[in-house]
Amino acid sequence: MSSDNVIHAFKPAELPAQTLTIEKPPAGKKMYCQHGGLRIDPHERSIACAECGQVLDPFDYLLTNAATINRAWQDHGYVKREISDIQDRITELKKEEKRLKAQIKRSADKITVVDVRGKGLL
Ligand SMILES: [Zn+2]
Repeated sequence: MSSDNVIHAFKPAELPAQTLTIEKPPAGKKMYCQHGGLRIDPHERSIACAECGQVLDPFDYLLTNAATINRAWQDHGYVKREISDIQDRITELKKEEKRLKAQIKRSADKITVVDVRGKGLL
């Protein structure tokens, strides 16, 4: 795989515009347990932790997920800028490599071999 293919393989996908705006929650407020699994009951319209059974406030759950999505959007933007900067640097380095190789070739063409040991005279 050439370096150009590597660059294109990591080209970030475009995301739709971020539409979430989150007000800061009260300081120190713990919204719910830190277990990962959820049990969503559409009949009761409730959300509970699948592990410990703690009933979660749906709004708090949505707020937390919105904050996570917000961070992911910011991270995506940061990574996208970093990739763009790295691609620019790679392009510049390739130009510099090409220029230096040409300079080496020109210098090599100018080198005159001097027979200091006189072997060429035999
Ligand atoms: Zn839990």
